[in-house]
Amino acid sequence: MRAIGRDPVFIEDGAGARMMDVDGNEYIDWVCSWGPLILGHAHPAIVDAVAEAVSSGTSFGAPTEREVQLAAEIVERIPSVQMVRMTSSGTEATMSALRVARAATGREKVLKFSGAYHGHVDGLLAEAGSGLATQGIPASPGVPEAATRSTVVAPWNDPDAVVEATERHELAAILAEPVPANMGLVPPEPGFLELLRRRADETGALLIFDEVITGFRVGRGGVQELSGVVPDLTIMGKVLGGGLPAAAFGGPPALMELVAPAGDVYQAGTLSGNPLAVAAGLQTLRLLDGRAYRKLERTTDALARGLREAAADVGCEVRVQSLTGLLTVFFSDAPVGDYSAARASDLEAFAAFARALLDRGVYPPPSQFEAWFPSLAHTHEDVEQTIRAAREAFAEVAAR
Ligand SMILES: *Cc1c(COP(=O)(O)O)cnc(C)c1O
Repeated sequence: MRAIGRDPVFIEDGAGARMMDVDGNEYIDWVCSWGPLILGHAHPAIVDAVAEAVSSGTSFGAPTEREVQLAAEIVERIPSVQMVRMTSSGTEATMSALRVARAATGREKVLKFSGAYHGHVDGLLAEAGSGLATQGIPASPGVPEAATRSTVVAPWNDPDAVVEATERHELAAILAEPVPANMGLVPPEPGFLELLRRRADETGALLIFDEVITGFRVGRGGVQELSGVVPDLTIMGKVLGGGLPAAAFGGPPALMELVAPAGDVYQAGTLSGNPLAVAAGLQTLRLLDGRAYRKLERTTDALARGLREAAADVGCEVRVQSLTGLLTVFFSDAPVGDYSAARASDLEAFAAFARALLDRGVYPPPSQFEAWFPSLAHTHEDVEQTIRAAREAFAEVAAR
């Protein structure tokens, strides 16, 4: 909220696509907890699932049947994932997947992309997106130099830089959000994901897709299903926990059996696979069928189209980049293909737009470097009301 010059909004409660702040203002919520709430707030089926789970004991430190059912649901949706390890956060899942990649390859270096965010893993807080981008923090103090020394950073959508980095460095892994959503939504150019796969194969690095945002959101099997580019390891989170803390990483047995106790790559977490989070996640995935994704696509498309038209009507220059369940309004006069283009957006215009929306009961991500998260709870009327508010907000920006 500081990025748009507003005080934080304190939330009282939420229902469906709406939430209420402590001052009694109602908002159409396009953040949805930064992605997990694909069914909206307090979905009755999730509330019931969690209530039932909580009354049966909140944590055991031993396996439960539902944990296996959730793993089976993941494996069924994502063919490249045949074994799963649960964690409580995407950060942990990333950290652990990297440990497996380093153990499997006997190498240390990892290639990541500028503007990508993979949680607050020490070594990955180099040119990271999300909150660091919003707050203009290039690298976090407190991260030892030794931690980032093995991180190689390349610009997204830059084939030459990828070829050069993979030639110059012996990499354990190429780590990518296959559709980055933490510098705003910046899809890969045609052929770019294929290049990552090819360079990983040619150089003996693993390809790791961080699908914490995109997994279970852009479609049943994430970006890897849409693109046909198959990673070695996949990191999942957000939607996977249905609004409770759950994340996971997975891949084929040849890699996952390196993880203790099957192998000797240590990984653990007291509350991993926690019964409440597993109940919420399992219920969420079970409600995400083909029909649900078609509805989410229609909602996203209608919102994207409406925002584009509203901006054009009042002469406000924006680029609306979107994919099922994800969208960013860039205040830019050209398509945004990488982090430096995202950073060149008119941040003052974005801030004015976001403030104007909040004043009209619409809650967008309060940062140019984040995505809107349409959910299945958003109705046609929510979209229409948002577009009406956006038209006025764009007009205010254009008149500045
Ligand atoms: C949110 C996010 C993470 C980190 O997940 P946490 O649960 O917040 O630790 C990792 N990768 C991506 C792509 C994310 O969007």
